[in-house]
Amino acid sequence: MLRSLLLYLSERKGPKKLLTGNRLGRRLASRLIAGEEVEDALRVIRHLKSEGFWVTLDCLGESVQEAAAADTSCETYLHLLDRLAAEKLNSHVSVKLTQLGLAIDEGLARRNLGRIAERAALHNNFVRVDMEGSAFTESTLRVFCSVDAPRDVMGIALQSYLHRTAADAEELLKRGVRIRLVKGAYKEPPDIAFAKKSDVDRNYREIMEKLLTSGIYHAIATHDERIIAATEQFARQHGVAPENFEFQMLYGIRRRLQRALIQQGWRVRLYVPYGPEWYAYFMRRLAERPANLFFVMRNLLRQ
Ligand SMILES: Cc1cc2nc3c(=O)[nH]c(=O)nc-3n(C[C@H](O)[C@H](O)[C@H](O)COP(=O)(O)OP(=O)(O)OC[C@H]3O[C@@H](n4cnc5c(N)ncnc54)[C@H](O)[C@@H]3O)c2cc1C
Repeated sequence: MLRSLLLYLSERKGPKKLLTGNRLGRRLASRLIAGEEVEDALRVIRHLKSEGFWVTLDCLGESVQEAAAADTSCETYLHLLDRLAAEKLNSHVSVKLTQLGLAIDEGLARRNLGRIAERAALHNNFVRVDMEGSAFTESTLRVFCSVDAPRDVMGIALQSYLHRTAADAEELLKRGVRIRLVKGAYKEPPDIAFAKKSDVDRNYREIMEKLLTSGIYHAIATHDERIIAATEQFARQHGVAPENFEFQMLYGIRRRLQRALIQQGWRVRLYVPYGPEWYAYFMRRLAERPANLFFVMRNLLRQ
C-alpha cells in the first residue's frame, strides 16, 4: 500500500513542489543525491574514487515533454562527458531515454542518444541506458539497438520483475550487449510483471547466472545480500574473475555493504545521481524501503 502510494506521489506535481522548494527537503535528499550542481557531483566522485569505488553519474531528469528540453538534456550530458575527461575522473554516465525525448518522438531520443554515444566513444567512456516504466520498455530497447555505437561504449539496464526480461537478455547477449541487471523500480501490473518478491529474486538469479557465463562484462546491480552472496559464490565456482563483471549499488544505500565488497576484492560501481530534478528519483528510493519514510518523517518532526 505504502509503496504504491509513494510511487503514485513520485509522479505528482504538488508534493514535488513542496519537497523540492524548501531547504529541509533538499537536506533530506542529500543522503541519496550528490547535490544540485555538477561541481557537487564531481566532488562526490573524487571522494568515492579515493575510497576505491567506480562511479556512473546520472544527471537527474525524466519524462521531458518538449523537444527543446530534450536537446538541453543531451547538451548537459555532452558537457558532462567532456568535463569527466578533462578532470580524468574516468566515470561512466547513466541516462534515461525519456530525458532525451522518448515520450515525444523516438527519432529525437535516438539522435540524442547517438550524439551522447559518439562523445562517450571519443573519450573512451561508457554510457548506460537506464530502463524506465513498462510503457517505455519496447521503445527503449528499439532505440538502444538502433544506435550504431561500439558495444564497449553503450549498455542497457534490464529489470528482473518483468516476465519478458529473460528473453530480452538472451536477445541482447547474442548482440554482445553489456547489461546492468536490476529488479525494477516502477509500479507494474501483474500481467507483465512478477507480483511476488520471491519470483522477482528467482528470475534475477537465473538471469545473473546467464550473464556471468556469457563472457561479456555485465553489472549486477542490487543491495540484496542474498543475491550478492549467490553471485559471489557462482562467480567463484565458474572461475569468473572479479575484473570480469561488477557489482553496482546506489549512492547512499547500504554503505557498509558497499565497502565490505571492495575490501573483499570485488569491483563496485556506485550510481551517483545529481541535479535539481531529484524528486521522482528520491520518491522511488523511499518506495523501495518504506522504513525510509519513517526516517524522513522523524527528521522532519525534529526540525
Ligand atoms: C546501480 C543501480 C541502477 C539501477 N537502475 C535502474 C534502472 O535503470 N531501472 C529500474 O527500474 N531500476 C533501477 N534500479 C533500482 C532497482 O530496480 C531496485 O528498485 C533497487 O535496486 C532495490 O532493489 P534491490 O535489488 O536492492 O533489492 P531489494 O530486495 O529491494 O532490497 C534488498 C535490500 O537492500 C536494501 N535497500 C534496497 N533499496 C533500498 C532503499 N531505497 N533504501 C534503503 N535500503 C534499501 C534493504 O536493506 C533491502 O532489504 C537500479 C539500482 C541500482 C543499484
